[in-house]
Amino acid sequence: MCDFCRKHAEKYGKWYLNPKGYSEELFYKLTALDRILNRKPRKEREMWKYSDAAWYPLPISRTLDLVDWVAKPLVGGLIKLIGNFIAVREHAGQVVPLEDAHKIVELSEGQALFPCMCKRLFKGDDEYKCLNFTPAPDLAEKHPRGWRVKWLGKEEAKEKLEEFSEKGYVHAVFWWYGLPQVICICNCDVRYCYAARPRLWYDIKKAYVKAEYVAEVNPDKCSGDMPRCGNCVVRCQFGAIKLTSGKARVDPYKCFGCGQCRFGCEENAITLVDRNTHLIAKGLW
Ligand code: SF4
Ligand code: SF4
Repeated sequence: MCDFCRKHAEKYGKWYLNPKGYSEELFYKLTALDRILNRKPRKEREMWKYSDAAWYPLPISRTLDLVDWVAKPLVGGLIKLIGNFIAVREHAGQVVPLEDAHKIVELSEGQALFPCMCKRLFKGDDEYKCLNFTPAPDLAEKHPRGWRVKWLGKEEAKEKLEEFSEKGYVHAVFWWYGLPQVICICNCDVRYCYAARPRLWYDIKKAYVKAEYVAEVNPDKCSGDMPRCGNCVVRCQFGAIKLTSGKARVDPYKCFGCGQCRFGCEENAITLVDRNTHLIAKGLW
């Protein structure tokens, strides 16, 4: 079990399956300081700022390229420490397979697509693939210069998730200014993701936490027949699955448990297993 589940899952097994994470009461909760200063709660204030980001210049990406600094031993260690500290308290996420993404939609209230902020900044185009939940879309719509959102029903939202899966995007549940507040499911191309990049490039683990699962291949089912096969390898955005001696093999150190490899396998040779029960992947978040 990850730290987040230990603290927030209660009887629901996973932190993001706890209905509390979707309540407006939690979103609008005021601190004592908010009351004294007679101001709106932080989650609402930040959402307002986020909506302003709809007008950021396109693209501004490279300004956050920290790679040279992270490579330096002392400075790099400090950046990682601060990065992990901020990620948990602000806005970051955990990979979830499609099945859990569907459960999240069931728990959520209003569902609406936003353009992916990351792809906007890194690539300069607006792709509507960030599935947000009430009250985020309501606030974005109220903002005079905010995002134009596309409202969906629950079934439509699930169909969209399947469509994103077909494209090979990784689903990740994102919290908003602290757990367990769930704000959205991002559907990521990790090359452009502002959460996945710090994780993959700079090893800031809390920015993009691995799923509660890990993939396993049944060698008896895997045909491993290149060039016809190997679809699983192509679909893995993390380079975690390879063909060795005619069989697909998962590297449990690299696997994020997104489950995308499964959808490329006509032999149904790949399953997701509970990370907590996996001999090697257990504890690798
Ligand atoms: S092997 Fe790759 S695609 Fe499959 S679950 Fe792991 S990270 Fe995801
Ligand atoms: S797609 Fe399936 S059958 Fe093909 S190599 Fe991957 S696991 Fe094996």
